[in-house]
Amino acid sequence: MKTSATSSPILEVRDLYKTYRLPRRQELKAVDGVSFSVMPGEVLGVVGESGCGKSSLGRCLLRLAPATSGQIVFEGRDITHLPERTLRPLRQRIQMVFQDSYASLNPRRRIGDLLAEPLKVHPDAKGRKRSSAEITARLHELMELVSLPITALARYPHEFSGGQRQRINIARALALSPRLILADEPVSALDVSVQAQIINLFADLQKQLGLTYIFIAHDLAVVRQISNRVAVMYLGRIVEIGDTDSVLHTPAHPYTAALTAAIPRPVTGLARPVPLQGDVPSPINRPSGCRFHTRCPYVQTRCKQEDPALHSIHPNGHEVACHFPL
Ligand code: SF4
Repeated sequence: MKTSATSSPILEVRDLYKTYRLPRRQELKAVDGVSFSVMPGEVLGVVGESGCGKSSLGRCLLRLAPATSGQIVFEGRDITHLPERTLRPLRQRIQMVFQDSYASLNPRRRIGDLLAEPLKVHPDAKGRKRSSAEITARLHELMELVSLPITALARYPHEFSGGQRQRINIARALALSPRLILADEPVSALDVSVQAQIINLFADLQKQLGLTYIFIAHDLAVVRQISNRVAVMYLGRIVEIGDTDSVLHTPAHPYTAALTAAIPRPVTGLARPVPLQGDVPSPINRPSGCRFHTRCPYVQTRCKQEDPALHSIHPNGHEVACHFPL
């Protein structure tokens, strides 16, 4: 998962907001001023509890939901407001894998037909329509990449286990040779033993194909296994970001420290965990000042008055949004 120090970011997100207007003039700020960049070949894990805004962020990045303001720059091009027709060719290079492996696959179609569809719709890298033989060869390649037998192409989604269906979803995401894959909770519906196999598959494919991932999960233990950088989100904002070892071994934000306490397997060298208390407040009535102050064991008067900005705490890129980092 090495990245080139001289290359440009594959994705830059600048001060992104996604606000939903609700009845009675209320607003839900699902994404509340998020900025980060992802380098080619990097795996950025985005982690946080349910309701922290990570899936809304993913939907904005994929342009499945329009951003309220801010910029999304992919391969140097601002795609935030590109019309769908202009965006379509770019969609080949950004693919997604979702949590629900069954809902993502049309149950009435054979796997071979599902995987062939994008290859028929989109031209190849030279702008040519693919021949039947080329499509068949690519389908066989895809089966090999995700370690499924070629006979799987003739079967229907219900004939597979959850883990196998997620392999098929990964094969479909790979069909058009994307550069960036956004995976939203791709293993959270699977048994723990199957989770490990799918995470290993993601990791192997990343190395083999030089892919870039944004890996969204609520489970820090999952993110830890695959990411070389982690962004921790709370109530719509990144509260800590940095390389995985730095963030997990020396968490500076009390929320990150609390999440590390929830990792079921002990990890040598982790900071002494402070268990998380209470629930995430409603994003409609976000707490004043620091958004974590209602649950923070270290809260002080300043925390209730001033919203801490994300700032650097180490030259290695480790940043935190806290007035009194740990
Ligand atoms: Fe806790 Fe204060 Fe830091 Fe917020 S700013 S995380 S309340 S110490």
